[in-house]
Amino acid sequence: MTWKAMTLTGWGRSSTARVQACRPERQGELARAIAGEQSILAHGGGRSYGDAALNNGGRAVLTARLDRMLSFDPASGLLVAEPGVDFRAIKEAFLPRGFMAPASPGTAFATLGGAVAADVHGKNHDRDGSFGDHVEWLDLITADGETRRIGPDNDPALFRATIGGMGLTGLIARIAVRLLPSARPAVRVKERRLDDLDAFIAAIGEARASAHFSVGWIDALAGGRALGRGILQTAEFTDEAVREKTKRRAVPIELPFSVVGPLSVRAFNALYLRRVPRAGREIAMAFSTYLYPLDAIEKWNRIYGRRGFYQFQCVLPDGESPRGLREMLETIGKAGRASFLAVLKTLGRAGRGDLSFPMPGFTLALDFPRRPGAEELVGVLHRIALERGGRVYLAKDALLDPASFKAMYPRHGAFMETLARIDPKGRFSSDMARRLALKPA
Ligand SMILES: Cc1cc2nc3c(=O)[nH]c(=O)nc-3n(C[C@H](O)[C@H](O)[C@H](O)COP(=O)(O)OP(=O)(O)OC[C@H]3O[C@@H](n4cnc5c(N)ncnc54)[C@H](O)[C@@H]3O)c2cc1C
Repeated sequence: MTWKAMTLTGWGRSSTARVQACRPERQGELARAIAGEQSILAHGGGRSYGDAALNNGGRAVLTARLDRMLSFDPASGLLVAEPGVDFRAIKEAFLPRGFMAPASPGTAFATLGGAVAADVHGKNHDRDGSFGDHVEWLDLITADGETRRIGPDNDPALFRATIGGMGLTGLIARIAVRLLPSARPAVRVKERRLDDLDAFIAAIGEARASAHFSVGWIDALAGGRALGRGILQTAEFTDEAVREKTKRRAVPIELPFSVVGPLSVRAFNALYLRRVPRAGREIAMAFSTYLYPLDAIEKWNRIYGRRGFYQFQCVLPDGESPRGLREMLETIGKAGRASFLAVLKTLGRAGRGDLSFPMPGFTLALDFPRRPGAEELVGVLHRIALERGGRVYLAKDALLDPASFKAMYPRHGAFMETLARIDPKGRFSSDMARRLALKPA
């Protein structure tokens, strides 16, 4: 196994780590990659924003070349694949055959390993749940070098700790997941403008019960009576023929400073809202364009300059959402710091994992350029999420403190018990695990 020193960075570019990394190509190499005493962590597509996929001073197993699909049963939709298979590959191989990933994040560059480890959710969560809900079994290589096939009936505690477990139980070497049938390459998208938060919550509340996919975009800098204004997009599959846009633009250079400031954001958001006529509109587009709008611009994370940015994402329980979202948007608006549109989605049910993020409620996500005061602002939002019974999404996080984490994730005790059994020395670790005290005693 060849180990190379390299620097890895979270997608938000605010967290970096120096690691010794290897890039295994075959299953047979994995046990050797994990052998030893050093701290170790799997690294997939690197699309988590903060320090979840970083292991400063330790080792990283890069899974990109473990990208084979091993079997597929069209009758049941069961796909067995290696962890480095990404959502682009799933889309290309299966959409023409009428199957889709059961839950897809907003980027197709995330891998299946990362999708299990974060128990990712998509724009169809109310209907289909999160990725882990569709996993039949996993082959997990644990710190002792053993490969264990785990599932709901086979070491269920280790299965629950691994789904949403941010790579801390071991390295996921194979994934058996059920893809969903009846998918089409195109969707018909309905867009409507909503004037304020109450209207938005009511509309997205209706959409979650009826639409196949739904997502809202909020102008987080609008205040007063326009607080919470934005656009709701719902989508259904269609047989209309559309052409997928495959051309990608790129932010060509590393910018020394952020081009995202209150003026550019206000101007962009106003234009974006006006794109949709008052009466709303309907358009047909490629399913992938709807799912992965940001993938059209390669390296878009560079627009925040060298210092990078933080993404804040929380979920608030249904009953607390109207007040909690209002408090958050008022806080963000007063600080004048939001970046481009905030994303508002609904989530339908809790995930299977001890540390799964979803709960029935509303989830808000937005970026903050890493300027002085950004950490404090995110800290205030964490406090509001906690007071309202919500939680912060670990796949996006770089700043949460251990006490808030424990209060937000009531099943963390079960998670820690499993870690103590399966990896008593805490070899699988990350910068996030150390920050949140996720290490066996
Ligand atoms: C533009 C954008 C949009 C996004 N939208 C969404 C969204 O809508 N919904 C959502 O849920 N998330 C979303 N995300 C977050 C993203 O889906 C998660 O961070 C996901 O984990 C990234 O997968 P990855 O392969 O890049 O994993 P990485 O970032 O490389 O790693 C993430 C975690 O997974 C672990 N991991 C990776 N591979 C393995 C493995 N083989 N075995 C064990 N552990 C492993 C790592 O150790 C780490 O803890 C978005 C991210 C971006 C950049």
